[in-house]
Amino acid sequence: MGINGLRWKWEWKRSSRNDVEEAKWQQFVSMVAIPVLSDGIDEWTWTKDSSGVYRVKSIKEILHNARYTLPQYVFIWNGWVPKKVGFLAWRAELDRLPTRCALVRRNINVESHLCPLCGDEPESTEHLFLSCGFVQSVWAVIAQWCKLPNAFVFSIRDILDMDVHTPGSAKLKKALYAVCLTSLWCVWKVRNETVFNQASPSVQKTVSDIKSLSFVWVKSRSKEVSLDWEIWNGFNLHKMG
Ligand SMILES: [Zn+2]
Repeated sequence: MGINGLRWKWEWKRSSRNDVEEAKWQQFVSMVAIPVLSDGIDEWTWTKDSSGVYRVKSIKEILHNARYTLPQYVFIWNGWVPKKVGFLAWRAELDRLPTRCALVRRNINVESHLCPLCGDEPESTEHLFLSCGFVQSVWAVIAQWCKLPNAFVFSIRDILDMDVHTPGSAKLKKALYAVCLTSLWCVWKVRNETVFNQASPSVQKTVSDIKSLSFVWVKSRSKEVSLDWEIWNGFNLHKMG
């Protein structure tokens, strides 16, 4: 049989038994007939662009043409903390962190599904960052430090939206958002140190890590020359330059 100038020689051990086999055979032949074979070297081609070269622009066009719907929640990035910190918060909001409950859901064997910080409840994202007794103590000190007496949070989104509902200048809001992101980062860090290095979680150390890390990040990234530790430690951000 000739396809694309090639000659195929089939050596059947038996003939087709019925119409179904015959139909499948015909289908297979029509599939192998589609590609045009040449003598050249095999190469990869991106068929969505006329140049044959992969471009991000063409993906954008495909997505645009597909009229994708906007996600319900759009994560806001904050330039005053490292990208990895934003990524962690973004994954937490999507419930994509490998907490013990998440691992159990994926049929991965874990020693215990209980929260490594308190040992009382299953470790879900919601528990780890919101309802865990250890973390609530951390949030209480952070809320006091940032002068947020009525900071009630029921979801990761509430933490990420904290700045939106707090009155103040754009700089204060941005700094507060950076603190919230750093807090999520530090909670995940202390959780990992407890799980992998058998460290004893300390509320005091976690709070002090949040304060000092966010200070270093905000000071270096915001280029606020006048921001010093005294201002940051008192969260008196109206004194920022
Ligand atoms: Zn817990």
